[in-house]
Amino acid sequence: MRVCLCLLALAALSLHAAAPAKNETVRGKLVVRSGEAPVVETAEHARIVLDGDAPTRKVLHDPRVNGFEVEASGHFTAPGKFLIDPQHTRALVVRDGGKPKMITYWCDVCYIRAYAPGPCVCCQKDTDLELRDLDDIR
Ligand SMILES: [Zn+2]
Repeated sequence: MRVCLCLLALAALSLHAAAPAKNETVRGKLVVRSGEAPVVETAEHARIVLDGDAPTRKVLHDPRVNGFEVEASGHFTAPGKFLIDPQHTRALVVRDGGKPKMITYWCDVCYIRAYAPGPCVCCQKDTDLELRDLDDIR
């Protein structure tokens, strides 16, 4: 009888876990144009508007990432609107030659890496876009 109750409890837990917004992945080409919301264009030519947390938004408004093949995990907030998971979960990766890569920004003066575009936190020099293998980032 006790085993049976445990199983019931487990079943209830797993049902509960399935309730929040289900995690999904969108893949396609980034289209970044100034003054327009960033979108990903899928292989089926669907355009999905992307949103995310503050650093993700900065990346999505960087014209240098325009045209990248990306894969983003998160969930749809409305049809055609996709919210990317927080950046620290590495929810947005670039497919470069079949390899997943992280979008990073590098200051070659201070050797400081950032995950959003903008001036270096140390010397204020504009950081350079650099794609890094996910395996190289610990
Ligand atoms: Zn610097």
